[in-house]
Amino acid sequence: MAELLALTAHELAVKVESGEVSAREAAEVANARVEEVEEDVNAFVTVTPEIALERASKVDARDGDRKLWEGVPLVVKDVLSTRGVRTTCGSKMLEDFVPLYDASALRNFGEDLIMVGKANMDEFAMGSSTENSAYGVTRNPWDLARVPGGSSGGSAAAVAAGEGWWALGTDTGGSVRQPAALCGIVGLKPTYGRVSRYGLIAFASSLDQVGPMTRDVRDSALLLQAIAGHDPRDSTSANVQVPDYLSELEDGVSGLRVGVVTELVNGEGIEPGVREVTERIAQGLEDAGAEVGEASLPHSEYALPAYYIIAPAEVSSNLARFDGVRYGLRVPAGGVHEMYRETREAGFGDEAKRRIMLGTYALSSGYYDAYYAQAQKVRTRIIEDFRSAFSRYDVLLSPTSPTVAFGIGAKVDDPLAMYYQDVCSIPANLAGIPAISVPGGLSEVLPVGVQLMSDHFTEPMLLRAARAIEQAADFRFALKP
Ligand code: GLN
Repeated sequence: MAELLALTAHELAVKVESGEVSAREAAEVANARVEEVEEDVNAFVTVTPEIALERASKVDARDGDRKLWEGVPLVVKDVLSTRGVRTTCGSKMLEDFVPLYDASALRNFGEDLIMVGKANMDEFAMGSSTENSAYGVTRNPWDLARVPGGSSGGSAAAVAAGEGWWALGTDTGGSVRQPAALCGIVGLKPTYGRVSRYGLIAFASSLDQVGPMTRDVRDSALLLQAIAGHDPRDSTSANVQVPDYLSELEDGVSGLRVGVVTELVNGEGIEPGVREVTERIAQGLEDAGAEVGEASLPHSEYALPAYYIIAPAEVSSNLARFDGVRYGLRVPAGGVHEMYRETREAGFGDEAKRRIMLGTYALSSGYYDAYYAQAQKVRTRIIEDFRSAFSRYDVLLSPTSPTVAFGIGAKVDDPLAMYYQDVCSIPANLAGIPAISVPGGLSEVLPVGVQLMSDHFTEPMLLRAARAIEQAADFRFALKP
């Protein structure tokens, strides 16, 4: 078991393909590891050991007629609809919700997606610590007293703990990258529109993207290969050809122009240990042949406040469907209005309610221009900042998160401190560009993620640069706890 657990997803996939290991053996190993550590980590809302075994046997039986990724068990964030398996979105509202179809992001795994389980998350993906889940907090495998980040904290913790070789998360303001950073794994947010959002329970539709959470950059490329592609069922899905994400991976960074984003490296609240690792990686890229300089995103300080208007505004609309009639929970009451009210009062947690109220306020007549319209103007400025930065640089480097993993409970009573976790990650969501977090090293004993951003649909280059970071970093993936 230990031997298989130590492999990357790509290595395991190759062994399954050659017949050296069966998909069923892999599923057994994942299930056993879940048994072993889940009590401590709580990475899952729902585990699906029988489904994993049954489907793995089917995949084995289809020998010869399958894609490389199909033999490797996958952890799926509980925001992605899975046919016949309950999908809670971390909310009491959807405690018993069983979707009738799989999210399109899963379609290239075919009918027999070998699923380890549904990963825990902040309710409706709102949060940075996985403490906003109705199903308990997930613990960081590096230090069980700390959070794994969020909102895809269950996915990140599962990968770090080896409860699966790879996972899917979603990223609206940083939810793939920040937990990846805090758990010492790789997290990629693809270009907006690269991966279908069909069957993904909506948080902020103009920002949401599904992304791979993996042990290394090669696994990230392979999982992106599996989930990317145009989907007519998602009107924002891009009809852009899917390149081969693995082919350029080892081509190095010689001559690549890397801009270190001044505002995000030196901003207040960036921990010294995080800054040091980022600077060391910049040096490492230069040593590997990249041309490293200083880049500026002059409006980046407005990205966080703009996001916390735009995302809640979209939430207030997207979460209106949870009314006790169409989906999930219903609290019976005297009349229809009472039923709505009591259902939403009982079904949503505090953060979901806070966002619905913020968003409703920002969109209300008289305040719309002052808040929502203003935030959209900021969004345009951020896009222009990136356009000008990408005229000088191929990729931009920054920390992923301002801090390493913090203690459970440390920020729950201070929403603004929690929101500040997203300060480095949000600009990429507002601009719709791809961004990846790669472990850059340790700050004392905890992992630090560094972030790379690049222009729309340049994931092959982004992954190649990320691979160079991996080589420059003083960091190797090892199972925790
Ligand atoms: N932490 C951010 C928020 O709470 C981002 C969440 C996400 O990307 N889903 O909105």
